[in-house]
Amino acid sequence: MKYLDEYRDPAAARRLAGAIRARVTRPWTIMEICGGQTHSLLRHGIDQMLPEQVTLLHGPGCPVCVTDAEIIDQAIALAATPGVTLCSFGDMLRVPGAAGSLLGAKARGADVRMVYSPLDALALARAHPEREVVFFAVGFETTAPASAIAVLQAEAAGVDNFSLLSAHVLVPPAIAALLAAPDNAVQGFLAAGHVCTVMGDDEYRPIASRFQVPIVVTGFEPVDLLQGILACLVQLEEGRAEVENRYARSVHPGGNAAAQAALRRVFVPAPRTWRGMGEIAASGLDLAPAYARFDARTRFRPAAPKAAPAGPCLSGDILRGRLRPTVCPAFGTACTPEHPLGATMVSAEGACAAYYRYRRAAA
Ligand code: SF4
Repeated sequence: MKYLDEYRDPAAARRLAGAIRARVTRPWTIMEICGGQTHSLLRHGIDQMLPEQVTLLHGPGCPVCVTDAEIIDQAIALAATPGVTLCSFGDMLRVPGAAGSLLGAKARGADVRMVYSPLDALALARAHPEREVVFFAVGFETTAPASAIAVLQAEAAGVDNFSLLSAHVLVPPAIAALLAAPDNAVQGFLAAGHVCTVMGDDEYRPIASRFQVPIVVTGFEPVDLLQGILACLVQLEEGRAEVENRYARSVHPGGNAAAQAALRRVFVPAPRTWRGMGEIAASGLDLAPAYARFDARTRFRPAAPKAAPAGPCLSGDILRGRLRPTVCPAFGTACTPEHPLGATMVSAEGACAAYYRYRRAAA
């Protein structure tokens, strides 16, 4: 515990906040990509420790939140297919698509199961060879390796009643899309430490160079976050735009080679539609042709999705950092974690859920 305590030390956090105040000479806007970092920033009041000139925007780094309604509707269609057992993470079962949520499908009689890992779904497939078990795979580079391992294990064990509905997404193309938007306001990024633990930080260098933005790999504890913010601000003040690793206790050059090898073997980059951001080229991971038999889309061809209905939810703007949750008229009234209207209130990593949990009184 001593190691983690050092990164939660209030005195160290106050010193870093003082260093930030001393260093900042003008307004800057920084985005933290990761929903886990958003929650930590709000939980520890770090945004309130920063000088007025520093604006933090919350990015699209919650995998449940960015999963588009069309894919959720495909999952619901699969769940309604006779003989299919549809598995996913708990939050994913509650997010609404155009055709309701997976929990709603379960209430109507579909075989929908909550699991903690794709390996749980694979175990279910092995235990029930009479069923077709589909894992609805969501998540960034952090969770995609486990999906890849599940496919490789299914192949090795000859399990042929297991498949993935892949909604996996990749962070760097999303950062590039945000920066390329004509109304982009982000001047520096905090990159998610756990993603870089898997992938390393090399793929951020072309983005930092092309858009002339500093990208600082940052951890999740208060001191980690303040160190990342300070490093980003120092670069901005000095006119530098470099990739900097401030989470070196976890992120090593090159990342995790074994995890990357599993990803490269099982998946190929594919266009993916992000909630609120539209389709981004090469921002998703689909099954490689050699593993097409484990691809639920190829196997079952789920019914074409319906168009998403217009609704009051502003989560698309929130995921792009354009709005704060508290400006949504439904925040904390019609929309709460118990009765969520949108993905960013459902997910444990969603920005609306973070503001509800930590800032409700100020809303
Ligand atoms: S508070 Fe609810 S309705 Fe409003 S943007 Fe957030 S999730 Fe959507």
